[in-house]
Amino acid sequence: MPSLFAKIIAGEVPAQFVFQERLWVAFMDIKPTNPGHVLLVPRAESPFISGLPEETLAALGAYAARLVAAVRQVAAADVNVVLNDGPAAGQVVPHAHFHVIPRSGGAHAPFAGHYAYRDGELERWAVRLRAAWDG
Ligand code: AMP
Repeated sequence: MPSLFAKIIAGEVPAQFVFQERLWVAFMDIKPTNPGHVLLVPRAESPFISGLPEETLAALGAYAARLVAAVRQVAAADVNVVLNDGPAAGQVVPHAHFHVIPRSGGAHAPFAGHYAYRDGELERWAVRLRAAWDG
């Protein structure tokens, strides 16, 4: 059965995409840790990163670096990249993905809780992130 993220990639569940390319896509997390939180998701479906095709893994670095730079620019913040590799590590959607999260406050700031977007705010972040992605 396809994962939620496979359905988003197939267009069966709506999402605000930052980019959609051959091997990787990125879309806004609907329940962000901080505003501007983006998910970097492979089209290939595997619960664990180690199960992804070689080609997908080889392309990861360039996409991660470019997406982190876009989030850094739009959020005017530093950035965390988080992988929850398996349910005991906090993974809820069993389709490997990276969280790209704007961050401020330094080493001792809490990394928990969620930000609630106001009406239209997630879409506005997506517009700005798409523009930064396109450079
Ligand atoms: P994880 O716990 O690493 O599996 O993260 C799953 C993430 O997917 C969470 O941060 C959720 O807020 C996010 N999420 C759940 N449903 C959706 C959705 N329909 N569109 C975008 N993000 C989602």
